[in-house]
Amino acid sequence: MKAAVLADFGQPLVLQDVARPVPEADEVLLQVEVCGVCHSDLHIALGDLPGFRGVTKPRLIPGHEVVGRVVAKGAAVDHLQIGDRVGVAWLHSACGVCEQCREGRENLCRKGVVTGLMVDGGYAEFMRAKGSHALRVPEVLTSEQAAPLFCAGVTVYRALKNAQVAAGQRVAVFGIGGLGHLAVQVARAFGAEVIALDVSDDKLALARELGATTTLNVADPEALKTIRKLGGAHVAVVTSAAKAAYDMAFKCLRPAGTLAVVGLPTEALSFQALGIVGNEIRIVGAAVGTREDMRAVLDLAVAGELRCQVETQPLAEVNEVFARMQRGGISGRVVLRCC
Ligand SMILES: [Zn+2]
Ligand SMILES: [Zn+2]
Repeated sequence: MKAAVLADFGQPLVLQDVARPVPEADEVLLQVEVCGVCHSDLHIALGDLPGFRGVTKPRLIPGHEVVGRVVAKGAAVDHLQIGDRVGVAWLHSACGVCEQCREGRENLCRKGVVTGLMVDGGYAEFMRAKGSHALRVPEVLTSEQAAPLFCAGVTVYRALKNAQVAAGQRVAVFGIGGLGHLAVQVARAFGAEVIALDVSDDKLALARELGATTTLNVADPEALKTIRKLGGAHVAVVTSAAKAAYDMAFKCLRPAGTLAVVGLPTEALSFQALGIVGNEIRIVGAAVGTREDMRAVLDLAVAGELRCQVETQPLAEVNEVFARMQRGGISGRVVLRCC
């Protein structure tokens, strides 16, 4: 089968023929239809985040926003049938018995295995997945629409859930890319009023189209003042990987506001303790999501609350897509067609 393989950090992926995987008893073999390209894939390929670099499988096939059809299955998989269309997320499997798993936080399982990082992912014609973590994709969603929900969608859903966004609150979304354009819509679905921020006026126009009531270019020196005039943000969710976005997000919060950390700058974040104490700021992380979160996201999409802006490219174009991502030249999400 054809696959895009990471031979070495910092090198382009190599499109080559590799052996088709064989599913184990608790696994399914998927014929991959599409796989979304996530910013994490770029971090994994560059090897620029030590947390990823240390656990990257040698000769990895990246990709963790996968939608495909079940074409074979192990003897222990009885809830999925050949021909079922399923999606596979970042969380490839969890142990199911540790404290985190038993608390309903399988995304934090210490024995969790990550798709397209610790095991091969969806930048290929076929891939193996655990039957337990391959979720059926509702018929009404196209594979292109569904794939980005399996990382971008579920990540921003969990971030806004963890931030306890409530109806009527002001949510500032920093970065209107693959995650951010979905964050605008999830926040709207939670009943919030959305303030969208980006460096690109085109992306801000998209945010407005998707329901943001205020759009601000972060280069505008008055942007922060404008948010403060509105009363400040109850929640600021940063999907951008720029540290400067975090600095601004922290400053735009109202007292008792919440900073939701999603985007991954390579530098450490730093905030004055007095700023946190004096305003009782909460800082919350969100690590992709659980299967329960994933089902909630699929439900929102089926209800028409989430529309991914998707561009489809052939698998062979993956390096060009990475290059565009590095230049900030992607609007919405790119999905790779794998068969
Ligand atoms: Zn991702
Ligand atoms: Zn566990």
